[in-house]
Amino acid sequence: MTLTEKILARASGRPRVEPGDNVWVETDILLTHDVCGPGSIGVFKREFGQDARVWDPSKIVIIPDHYIFTADRLSNRNVDILRDFAKEQGLPYFYDVIDDPNGSWTFNAEVGQIKRQYGSRYQGVCHAALPRLGHARPGEVLFGTDSHTCMAGAFGEFATGIGNTDAGFILGTGKLLVKVPETMRFYLEGAMPPGVMAKDVILWVIGDIGFDGATYRAMQWEGPGVGSLNMDDRMTIANMAIEAGGKNGIFPADKATHEYVSERTTRNGTKADYNPVELDKDQKLIFDKVYDLSKLEPTVAMHPNPGNRALAKELEKVKLDRAYIGSCTGGKASDFFAFAKVVKGRHVKIDTYGVPATSDVVQELKETLWETQSVWNVLVEAGVKMTENASCAACLGGPTDTFARLNAPLTCISATNRNFPGRMGSKEAKVYLASPYTVAASALTGHVTDPREFLS
Ligand code: SF4
Repeated sequence: MTLTEKILARASGRPRVEPGDNVWVETDILLTHDVCGPGSIGVFKREFGQDARVWDPSKIVIIPDHYIFTADRLSNRNVDILRDFAKEQGLPYFYDVIDDPNGSWTFNAEVGQIKRQYGSRYQGVCHAALPRLGHARPGEVLFGTDSHTCMAGAFGEFATGIGNTDAGFILGTGKLLVKVPETMRFYLEGAMPPGVMAKDVILWVIGDIGFDGATYRAMQWEGPGVGSLNMDDRMTIANMAIEAGGKNGIFPADKATHEYVSERTTRNGTKADYNPVELDKDQKLIFDKVYDLSKLEPTVAMHPNPGNRALAKELEKVKLDRAYIGSCTGGKASDFFAFAKVVKGRHVKIDTYGVPATSDVVQELKETLWETQSVWNVLVEAGVKMTENASCAACLGGPTDTFARLNAPLTCISATNRNFPGRMGSKEAKVYLASPYTVAASALTGHVTDPREFLS
């Protein structure tokens, strides 16, 4: 069996499963956030009763992250609904926006986008926060009410996005009926050359198979090249399985995975035991292709979809209005370090915005010194408009007062993961997806730029 099949077989209590089998799967973690949480709670209460109790409070993780820093009343209300539910059900893993459980969350626009005003438990983007908090473990089943839940496949687990109805059912029962997907194998060899990042790997692959090329399939990453990818790299790649229509993305767990997980579960006091699945020699695959990482170049997904591939060096004529670094895919500390490496001692030519994925990233950027200067200050001095308000921000547009939202038909290069029309705001805006290196180099020149000229 493939990794996905082995996990689904175990979670459904069967010795083996085949692609196409429909199986009832036990949930290890259900993740939800401020956009879909209230709807899922509504389904749960409607179907199981107003006084119903969730199946297992210790397996529910709620991380508000999407529409947080907005004065929009209904968005603020969503967070209050989550808080009320967490209190009612005694949920230990609700990462509230504020510290006072009796308070309510209203963003104070007068305080501004720069000054932090959230509480100490606030985390930021759920997919980036989940593993940092020790909720992503090899061999487990993670369902989340968000399509990029597949990011946790980086840790050797079955992780996939579901709708509110399914989440409401899981809240009541802990189970979900899943059709076992076929598996596509992406066999990596070599190591990424200078100037190339994990984002280039996934953009190259999606360009290869198309933005529907993995529809309802597991994207399994294997081969000696996997060992050269750190956990952040693997997260970036697994995150974008859904941009090819994938049911999930998955990496085998190795030493790097176990070290990362054990450090996070120990630090946060989250469940530390887990049972990983190992790769079988004999696997039935629907697609099998070798990719040599050393041959890759800085890659871009052009407007209007993540499969519309070109090399950065082929797009020098594309003029840009804006650059953006942030999101679960591109707002990790390592992404900002890469970005800062390119812009250090230089100044951006176009409006450039930076939104750290989590509040830990804010802290790490401020505490990491390059000579005597913090990385945060390197970015600010280069002209990047940084916010301390870690969240999804403009990655998916959001309310019109969202930081860095594309409120006009601008052309933007972005380290995020999705560029369908309207994704970051205006339906007329054009979004080009690229690695933090490429976004940084393009911010310096005002047109799409191969970053290698700034890295030599
Ligand atoms: S950062 Fe973007 S892709 Fe990630 S969860 Fe938020 S909206 Fe979705």
